[in-house]
Amino acid sequence: MSLTLDQLDNTARVIQAAPIGICVTDAEGRFEMVNPAYCALYGYRAEELLGQPFTLVVPEANRPLLANLHDRFIAGDSDQEATQEWEVKGRDGRPRNILAKAARIMGEDGKPKKVTFVVDITERKAMERRLEFLARHDELTGLLNRRAGLSLLDEEILRSRRYGTPLCVSTCDLDHFKRVNDAHGHAVGDTVLREAADLMKEALRQHDHVIRLGGEEFLVLLPGVDGKEAQRALGRLRQRLETTPLADVGLRLTLSAGVAELQGDEAADALMERADRALYAAKHEGRNRVKLAR
Ligand code: GH3
Ligand code: MG
Ligand code: MG
Repeated sequence: MSLTLDQLDNTARVIQAAPIGICVTDAEGRFEMVNPAYCALYGYRAEELLGQPFTLVVPEANRPLLANLHDRFIAGDSDQEATQEWEVKGRDGRPRNILAKAARIMGEDGKPKKVTFVVDITERKAMERRLEFLARHDELTGLLNRRAGLSLLDEEILRSRRYGTPLCVSTCDLDHFKRVNDAHGHAVGDTVLREAADLMKEALRQHDHVIRLGGEEFLVLLPGVDGKEAQRALGRLRQRLETTPLADVGLRLTLSAGVAELQGDEAADALMERADRALYAAKHEGRNRVKLAR
């Protein structure tokens, strides 16, 4: 198919007006044509790109890989590239995510070229990462949420049975937390929750899991330790919380906790229930203490 001059002119206008980035690279991988959308995506002017190797917009670590792929595409027998996601970098150095698809075309000089179509999906990717995070985490504290926590508990129970190692759970509840909100407002209450959550993570071991069950209630999973050790670990946490001033107002807060060690073929909800009953006893006996379930 050959085009008249008029048609060529129109094709050029279509490419210029296209809302997706389009570039043509020569057999050596140098930019031969870039449209305005392509320039806008990367933050360069056309003059700055033309004649430059396309790896200019590729993060250093990926350059050898992408240069190699370009060479193979130019030389290869496939005319179409599968649509792929890549991380690229714009002029400001910030990473961006793109969706790219390429086609091989023949130049008038008889040499193959590569035309690449590029869509910016940076925001979509950021949104996807955020949604993935929120599916498993609590937004306020960044801790695992109830659903993720309970599925982790199931995994830990299986692991404990498989390897014959002990497993403890602890349900913790901040004492008189309602007073914090009442005296200082909900925003300070939120800050206190966030700081208390950070403190819990710091005070426990790396492979313990801290989960926000909801409100001011937390679940701690302690794999590999028996009830007495778990009670001591929670005791250290209780002590740290008691002595650490929280939020700008320097609030002192305490927590009550119930600890239960997994028994025989006990199910997850039965284990949690025993921990809950011990927590209830801790509250009943005057709060700011850690009770071990029988
Ligand atoms: P207790 O010692 O018996 O546990 O008393 P408490 O006041 O801690 O318990 P209660 O269950 O009566 O109150 C819990 C309070 O926690 C009530 C609620 O307003 C507050 N709360 C729950 N979730 C949040 C939150 O996300 N942010 C803030 N600021 N407050 C919360
Ligand atoms: Mg509560
Ligand atoms: Mg409470």
